[in-house]
Order: sequence, then structure tokens, then C-alpha cells
Amino acid sequence: MNPTQSWGGMQGRESRQEPIFWKQDISAALLRDHQFLCHGLGRSYGDSCLPSGGTALLLSPLRKLRSFDEKTGLLSAEAGLSLAELLDFIVPRGWFIPVSPGTRYVTLGGAIANDIHGKNHHKRGTFGCHVTEMEVLRSNGETIICSPWREPEFFAATIGGLGLTGVISWCTVQLIPIASAFLETETIRTTGLDDFFALEDESARDWEYSMSWIDCMAQGSKRGRGIFFRGNHAPYGHPAEEYAAQAQWKLAIPFQAPSWCLNRWSIRAFNEVVYQQQQKRLKQRRMPIDPFFYPLDKVLHWNRLYGKRGLLQYQFVLATDRLDELKRIFDIIAQSGLGSFLAVLKKFGDIRSPGMLSFPREGYTLTLDFQNQGERSQALFQKLDAIVLKAGGRLYPAKDAMMSPELFQSGYPLWREFSRHIDPKFTSQFWQRVSRG
Ligand SMILES: Cc1cc2nc3c(=O)[nH]c(=O)nc-3n(C[C@H](O)[C@H](O)[C@H](O)COP(=O)(O)OP(=O)(O)OC[C@H]3O[C@@H](n4cnc5c(N)ncnc54)[C@H](O)[C@@H]3O)c2cc1C
Repeated sequence: MNPTQSWGGMQGRESRQEPIFWKQDISAALLRDHQFLCHGLGRSYGDSCLPSGGTALLLSPLRKLRSFDEKTGLLSAEAGLSLAELLDFIVPRGWFIPVSPGTRYVTLGGAIANDIHGKNHHKRGTFGCHVTEMEVLRSNGETIICSPWREPEFFAATIGGLGLTGVISWCTVQLIPIASAFLETETIRTTGLDDFFALEDESARDWEYSMSWIDCMAQGSKRGRGIFFRGNHAPYGHPAEEYAAQAQWKLAIPFQAPSWCLNRWSIRAFNEVVYQQQQKRLKQRRMPIDPFFYPLDKVLHWNRLYGKRGLLQYQFVLATDRLDELKRIFDIIAQSGLGSFLAVLKKFGDIRSPGMLSFPREGYTLTLDFQNQGERSQALFQKLDAIVLKAGGRLYPAKDAMMSPELFQSGYPLWREFSRHIDPKFTSQFWQRVSRG
């Protein structure tokens, strides 16, 4: 992983790279330079994981388990441990991470710094809701152990704090119990957004996970058609044996694909094929963990399919009473012809996010992938930004590469209060961009 490049292919400014193997390395490293940013596994799409010069502290080698209570599911580990390694340890023992993103290749530190969310936001809130304690090392030599009850303000600044409050060296997380390494799932073909809204509401009580893939190239009467997914951990089974049998082969994309591979016709065709694949309205299946949670991980370096120019993600949240704006956004995207393979719509529930800068809040969140087409992408994003801004919504910093200071500051009104907790030696390209003015 190249720490000067984000998952979307954005280039960082030149920086020194310092791998961290032991906790003691951190304090020593913090004395050697005047500017830092931690780097996990670089799965953030835009510039929030890119240092603005200085030193990139590579945290992924710092990944030892500190303690695990098999009876209560309370686990403590160094912050560079990846969710992939964590799952290999906990699933056979009948435990699961409380909140899972769409890839296993994220570190605990990265999960906290972006206060990540998953398909079960309506049931469990964000990752930060399950962090019971963590240690943060500051550049002045201070060590801060914080939790929702100890140094609560600093805790709230560090959860979703974009890595700016110092180095998270370890954390303790409450896991959830599972009885099987399988999920019982349903996929339902939907004909429009109203179908999706009804299914999200119907699923909120009895289904742990829910979200929908939307064909964002469909227009007119087909607007918002898609496939709705929901799932629960299977109630009986043998997690250890089942998980061992789930080991998967993976494809890898060895080089950047030529840019012309993706165009409005190939994207439209892809969306049509995915939609037509489900002929019946309802399919019920028992699914292993990886295809349900991490289908993209099957193809390593899938981001290379977007070619040299890379990809841009756009993820926003709008309150539930802003359906007209949501529909307008779908129309603008379909008309733009820029398309998106991956359009995921999800309803966030009302569980409060613990971080001052946490992204999730109650409402509808849409995630879109676009090939980076320079000025054309910028023009589209500016149109979408104007709607999000006017509707009082916000964009997700982990995915963002272009948000204006105005949109950031209106979407995150606690940003000034947050700034008081920033370690003076820490910054990122994202922060320099959005905190101006
Ligand atoms: C395929 C894919 C699917 C995704 N799905 C989701 C999803 O469903 N939900 C979601 O919320 N996100 C999702 N993401 C985004 C991803 O979860 C976040 O960007 C996550 O923060 C990446 O973690 P990382 O370890 O790669 O950290 P990086 O991207 O390397 O860094 C992210 C931030 O964490 C900080 N950081 C890392 N380690 C530390 C540390 N030890 N101490 C202090 N700061 C630290 C960095 O400074 C940076 O600000 C997805 C990304 C991909 C590629």
C-alpha cells in the first residue's frame, strides 16, 4: 500500500514514511519531525488519509491482540490490527465485529478515526458506539486514556476525529455474539424508491442488516429501481468449522485498466445485467460472511479498474423528510451520463453517533462511485453539493476529495469545538482544504 496515494488514486504530497512496530516507536517518532498523519491501510478514498508533507506514521505493523474475554466478548488490541485479522480470530470463537464496513482491509485505528458505519446502523449505530476505551499518544509526550466516561470530550473528538487528535495506539471494543458463520438473507427486487423506503421501514425491527443497490442509470418510471438486501446471523451452527470451510480464493487486478473501459454504455449495461439477474421478486439464501459483507474484496485492487485517473466516491446523508432532494439527485446523476457501478442506498437509524465529526445521523445515505473525469466530475459534484448544502445534509470525509469549506463547515457545526482537540503537529490534506476561511 502506498501511503502517498488514497484508495481513489489521489496523490499525497511528498512525505517521509515511518513504520511503527512497537508502541515505544510512536513517542520517539513524534520527536523527529514537526508534522504527522497516521496511515492505516489506506482504504479512505479521498485526501483525509493523505499527509500534507512531514511524516506518515504507518500503523499497520502495530497489530497485537492485548486481551480477549471469551465470555463477554470484550477485546483489546493494538490499533493497526486489521478487521480481516480480527475476524479470523473472533469468528471461530463465536464473536463478530459490531459494525462492519464493506471491506475487511481496514485497521481498528482507521475504523475509529472515521467512525465507520455498516449495514446495521439502524440497530447498532457506528463503530465508535462500541469502543469502550482507547489510548492516544500526543506529540507533547502526553498519553491520554479515554472512554465515554473518562476524558469524554477528548474521546468524542477522537471518534471520527480523522486522525487529527494524535496516534491511537490501542483500543477496547465490545464484540457481538454469533451462533454461526452464515447469514440468512433475502434479496428483493424493487421497482422504485418508494419500494425501498417501505422495505427499510419494514426491516428495521427484525433484520440486523439492510441496504439496497440502486440502478442509478435508470430514469423516468424506472428511477430508483434496484435490489434490496437484508440479513441476520443464522441462529444455529458451528462457527469454527463453518468459517474454516469459507476460505476464499481471490482475483487480483495486476495493472491499471485503460480509462475507456468505463463509459456510459458499459455502466448502463452493467446496471441492467445486475438488475435483470434477479428475475423473481424474492430470493432467500444462506450466505457465508465474505460474499455478504465484503463482495468487493474478492477482487484485490479492484480500484485499478478505474484506470490511471482513479475513482471518486460521493457519499451524503439527507434527513428523512428530504425525499424530493434525494429524488432530484438521482435524476441529475442519470442525466449526467457519468454513471456509477456502485450506488448503495441505506437508511441510518436514530442512534446518536459518539464523535463530534461522525458522519452518520438519521436519514438516507447514498454512496456512489465515479470514474474521475476531472472537470466533468467536478461540475457534477458541484450540482450535487448545492442540493446537499441547501437541504442541510453532509458529505462523508472518508470518501471525499472535493468538498468545499462551506459545505464541510455547515455539515459539521461542531468543527470549531473539535479543532481545540487537534494535536498541533497533526494535519492532513483534507483538513487543510476544509478548515479554511
Ligand atoms: C471497498 C470499501 C468499502 C468501504 N465501506 C465502508 C462502509 O461501509 N462504511 C464506512 O464507514 N466506510 C467504508 N469504507 C471506508 C473505510 O472504512 C474508511 O476509510 C476507513 O477509515 C479506512 O481505514 P484504514 O485503516 O484503511 O485507514 P486509512 O484510510 O489509512 O486512514 C483513515 C484515517 O484514519 C486515521 N488513522 C489510521 N490509523 C490511525 C491511528 N492508529 N491513530 C489515529 N488515526 C489513525 C488516518 O490518519 C486517516 O485520517 C470503505 C472503503 C472501501 C475501500
